[in-house]
This record gives sequence, structure tokens and C-alpha cells, in this order.
Amino acid sequence: MSKKIIHNARIITMNPNLDIIPQGCILIENGKIRHIGRECPDDADAEYTDAEGMFVLPGFINTHTHVPMTMLRGYADDLPLHRWLQEHIFPAEARLVTPENVRIATRLAFIEMIKSGTTCFNDMYFFEDIIAEEAQKAGLRGVTGESLIDFPTASFQSVDEGLALSEKLIRKWQGSPLIHPSVCVHAPYTCSKDTLLRAKRLADKYGILLHIHLSETQQEVEELLATTRMRPATYLHAIGLLDQNVIAAHCVRLDSHETDLLSATRTAIAHCPKSNLKLASGIADTEAYRKAGITVGIGTDGTASNNTLDMVEEMRFAALLPKVVHNDPEAGNARHALQMATINGAKALGLEHLIGSIEIGKSADLILVHGDSSNMLPVYDEYSAVVYAMNSKNVRSSMVNGEWIMRNRMLCHLDKEDTLENIKRLAQIVKP
Ligand SMILES: [Zn+2]
Repeated sequence: MSKKIIHNARIITMNPNLDIIPQGCILIENGKIRHIGRECPDDADAEYTDAEGMFVLPGFINTHTHVPMTMLRGYADDLPLHRWLQEHIFPAEARLVTPENVRIATRLAFIEMIKSGTTCFNDMYFFEDIIAEEAQKAGLRGVTGESLIDFPTASFQSVDEGLALSEKLIRKWQGSPLIHPSVCVHAPYTCSKDTLLRAKRLADKYGILLHIHLSETQQEVEELLATTRMRPATYLHAIGLLDQNVIAAHCVRLDSHETDLLSATRTAIAHCPKSNLKLASGIADTEAYRKAGITVGIGTDGTASNNTLDMVEEMRFAALLPKVVHNDPEAGNARHALQMATINGAKALGLEHLIGSIEIGKSADLILVHGDSSNMLPVYDEYSAVVYAMNSKNVRSSMVNGEWIMRNRMLCHLDKEDTLENIKRLAQIVKP
């Protein structure tokens, strides 16, 4: 049905005025929001959903993840990043990362993402064509790019091959309603200057996002200082890589000069608080970045370093951590955290014309959250309820591009039982 009406909803719009409509109605036609207001149109052709007791808000946007890493959830915990990657994750991936396994792990990730309110994700991994195909089947919106890196991977043997594959995927998916291709280049410490610049040229050729890890650990900073005499963000700026079409994941270790560089170039940040805590990488100073005018979204990173894809949890960490960093309870408030998880995530991905808020003309990517729940009532302030009290089980229904992908906690397009059986079988291959 092309027309849908959601009524009796408490609408948290996340529009520029942060308007909240206590009892409102949303009309969706052909995937787009056509009307928002207190009055509800009468339309015999529309499918009506009564949202009594529900908050309706934009779906969460996970701005940095590696979807198929669900296959390595809990595989190697409690280690520093470089040992974790080199001694555990890379060797396990060499055995596990096949097209078939990527498909299974992707389905598992999507079940978890949808059930916790994510409607859009920004991914960097291998066999991204499969991830894009599965996202389309699940009805999820995805920004997808093959992870370019200076050593052979499961999906390409050389940077030349990786770039050719990236371009093939861009051509295949560009213009798709749900899949937005990007170019991904792993990090300044795993990619040569030549690889970084070739990746950026490819992104610019198609006018699309470049997605990179940046300044995640002190070790990365020291390595870059040793090899380039520059800190990581200063180096990327010096080679001409930073601009408004770049999203840099982590940015835990930016100094004030690097913060100014990201601000001046309008480079966005994907803040991944739980992954940074778990690997003891540090805590990104998102208050400083926000005050510098940098667009900051929230990401979960992969489940091997988190170990969940739950944006509700991630958002809460993003709201709480600045308070300890600055010894100030007024730092990191609930409004800013929800903006990071929705509209600022959309801006960081260059998709704010399409998603991130409930506004007329935008795509209907939204979630219904049961606000009349024992863990959320009473509601004096909607932002407080969503950021400090809500949990993922309060997400009841979810819609992307005007199509339901979950209704009353039932997934519309994914077979949960089959996926869970497959992932248990897959895990036997690398069982420690
Ligand atoms: Zn990452």
C-alpha cells in the first residue's frame, strides 16, 4: 500500500526547531512524509496505524560499523587494539570471511540492528555487494563500501583490484533507493599515501562519501609521527584528503590543531564510545568537537569490539561520557545525544536531505517506541526518556522508505530462526 497514516503519535521530529507534537499524525505516500500535524487526514485508501502510547522518532543512524563482524562477537575480548587485530581478528577473518559466511553474519547483524531501532548503517568491510544485497532484502538503508587496505584480503588481492571492485559496486548501486555506495579506505596506518589518495579520487569522481578510521589510539598517533612527522589528522589534511565528503571514525586522539582542521574542512566524525572504551583507546572529546562546529554522529563499530550493534546503548554512552570527561553534569545532554544518533548522523553521511528527522519531503525512516512502558514512565521530557531510560526492547515497529521492516517486534523480511542456526554452525569453524 503506497499510503500510510500513523496517528495518535507523540512525534519527536528532530527538525531544526526540535519540535515535539504531543498527539500528532504523519501521512506517508510513496515512501515520503507528506503531512505532519495535530489534525489527521481522512483517506479511505490509506493504511492506518494507531500509535497510542508510542513515541515516533527518526530511526537511529549507525555511522560506523563492520556488519559481518557479528561472526566474531566475543571471540577475543579484553585486549588492546593492535594485539586484538593482529593476533586474533585478522587470523580469524582469514579463515571465516567467505561470501557465504558474510551473508549469514550480515543477516544476524540486521536482526539485532532492526530490533534496536537502527534504520540506516554506514559499513566498511569485505564482500560489500552481499551486504548491500542483504540490506535491500531486509529493507534497511545502508551506506556500503569495500574496505581498501594495503594487503591481500578475502575479496581482493591488490589495491588495484580493490579499487576496481569498489568502482564496480558504486556503478551497480548508485541511484538505488536504499543503498548509497561509498569508498572506504581502512586507516592512515594501514594504507600508503598513494592508496589513500587513489581512494579519495575515486570518491570524488562519483561525488560520494569517503569513510576512514582516524586517530583511534595513541599507538596510531606515535606511528604516524614516526613515519610522517605529523599526527594522523594533520597528515590526512596535508595530503589533501579531508573535506565535507569524508567521515572519520573514532577521532579519539585529536589535538586542538587537528580539531580545528576537521572543523575548517567540514570533515565529519563517527563517535564510537563503547568500542573505544573496550579497547581502552580512550574517550573522544565530543563536547570539544561539537563546540568547534564539527558534525558528530554515533557508531557502534563492529561487534567484535563492542559487542553489540545496539544504538540505544551507544547513544546513552555518548550522553554520559562527556560528563566525566569534563567533570560537568551539564556536558553531553540528552538532546545532543539524540541529535547525534539521528539528524547529525544523517549530516555526517551527506544524507540529511533524505533522512535523520521527521519532516515533510523526507523519506519515512522512523521507529515507534513504546513510551508507556514501566521503564520509561513518567515522561516529563521526551529526550530524557529516550536517551536515559529507553532500552532496545521498547522499539516496537520500524519503517524505512515508507515500508515496514518490523511490526510489533516481528521482523518483516528476515528469518530469525534460520539465521541463528546458521551462525551457531559457523562459529564452530574458529571455536577457540
Ligand atoms: Zn571500525
